[in-house]
Amino acid sequence: APPPAPETGPAEAHEKVRRYLSEPRTMLVGGAWVPAVSGGTFDTLDPATGTVLTQVSEGDAADVDRAVAAARRAFQDPRWRRMSAMDRGQLLHRIADLIEANADELALLESRDNGKPVSVARAVDVGTSVKMFRYFAGWPTKIEGSTIPVSPRGGMRVLNYTTHQPVGVVGLIVPWNFPMSMACWKLAPALAMGCTVVLKPAEETPLSTLRLAEILTEAGLPDGVVNVVTGRGATAGAALAAHDGVDKIAFTGSTETGRAIVRAAAGNLKKVSLELGGKSPNIVLPDADPQSVAEAAAQAVFFNQGQVCTAGSRLYVHDAIYDEVVDAVAEQARKIVVGPGSDPATGMGPLVSARHHETVSSYIESGRQQGARLATGGRRPELPPPYAGGYFLEPTVFAEAEQGMRIVQEEIFGPVLAALRWSDVDDLVAKANDTPFGLSAGIWTSDLGHAHRIADDLQAGTVWINCFNLTDPASPFGGFKQSGWGREMGRKVLDLYTEVKSVWVNLD
Ligand code: NAD
Repeated sequence: APPPAPETGPAEAHEKVRRYLSEPRTMLVGGAWVPAVSGGTFDTLDPATGTVLTQVSEGDAADVDRAVAAARRAFQDPRWRRMSAMDRGQLLHRIADLIEANADELALLESRDNGKPVSVARAVDVGTSVKMFRYFAGWPTKIEGSTIPVSPRGGMRVLNYTTHQPVGVVGLIVPWNFPMSMACWKLAPALAMGCTVVLKPAEETPLSTLRLAEILTEAGLPDGVVNVVTGRGATAGAALAAHDGVDKIAFTGSTETGRAIVRAAAGNLKKVSLELGGKSPNIVLPDADPQSVAEAAAQAVFFNQGQVCTAGSRLYVHDAIYDEVVDAVAEQARKIVVGPGSDPATGMGPLVSARHHETVSSYIESGRQQGARLATGGRRPELPPPYAGGYFLEPTVFAEAEQGMRIVQEEIFGPVLAALRWSDVDDLVAKANDTPFGLSAGIWTSDLGHAHRIADDLQAGTVWINCFNLTDPASPFGGFKQSGWGREMGRKVLDLYTEVKSVWVNLD
């Protein structure tokens, strides 16, 4: 059994989490909690200790088949298909209410499974999930078609109008960095538009999604509208992406897996939207305040252990203030307390898994070997038992990084910053755009005109000026280039979950 976490948060929530972890968790298919068809299970681990939290059903292609069939039945069921727009909105509000009512428990569970500080899980993961359902609860009543002034031959009188209809059964495949909120980014618009869902959480972090599925049921979602299949990417995920009964896949994860999804989706040409990796430039102009920029730059890359698709992992600082800013960022990094997510003093928890710890560590090694200067960090901190086996890593800053280095070109998805010098703004913009990614970017300056001009030239789906990592359900989010296809959130995402129908009526 895992050691009890220090009692942060209400005792009642701790008790609920203890109870939740005390039995193996099954999957939600067609309104019933079921084991995998194969009977298989896998362990989900506590990244702070490396010990087993509980077992989860290991679903594969057979479970995906059952879940897709259940989602198809639910899609055709008048209880869902004919539910009024107002009622659908109310249902989404009820889901938001119930997530809020269970927020402490969900945050603790997320922190245990993922490693992140409970405070982050509470404010960001749970907070964002609530906001997603609240925002999208307003949409079902506002999906309006158009009447279109068409010009048929021969003066025929015609009424032409459009309606927006749910795309059908959608497969949602999500990663482990913000497990519950990544699921809600997709669930809320999919349900608002009347789709039915098969959701596959990441194998590292299935627990908050399974608990969320209980909440969806409690809120009154008809059976089969949301199904959750837990399992591995190569089996359950691949089967969902390839399934002929799925009309659309919405995927968040790595660019490499995104490519596999696109290939798998080709069989029935299902719609695909992708939120993929990033390698975001964070740009500091010479007129920025070095100290406040350093604090913000450290937060931009070390938040959530650096496991953020938009992490500001390439810091481009103007030569005039480079040394001052980089020294101050390293100082900020040294101040971050690394520890278990359950400790309120913790600023950075463990990485999600031993395998990911190895990957990130190997990038640190490559930075050293390719000649960047390690300004701080780079090691596994020594923590007392029971945390000695946890996947902790120091916040790491490399100075004098060069554009061609792997730590500058590749997504590390960990707490590793590469700081580069610049002096010519055209060269800066060219370098900022010189990776396969285009997810986000930051600019720090007191010259807003200059910031807007640079923002205009950056290949990035989101640009933050004098801020970083802000997102909102009302604002579109997504990537240029190999960071993805489509935009989530805002009104833009509604297109991903709807088909437009054009209806022609002969009025003569
Ligand atoms: P991943 O691609 O390894 O896994 C993501 C999900 O895909 C998991 O559920 C996994 O089981 C599944 N999967 C793996 N192989 C599959 C396959 N062949 N077919 C179908 N499904 C498969 O990514 P990860 O390591 O879990 O997450 C980190 C990545 O996610 C990073 O690249 C990060 O940038 C990206 N990310 C992007 C955004 C965004 O909005 N753009 C947000 C968060 C994370």
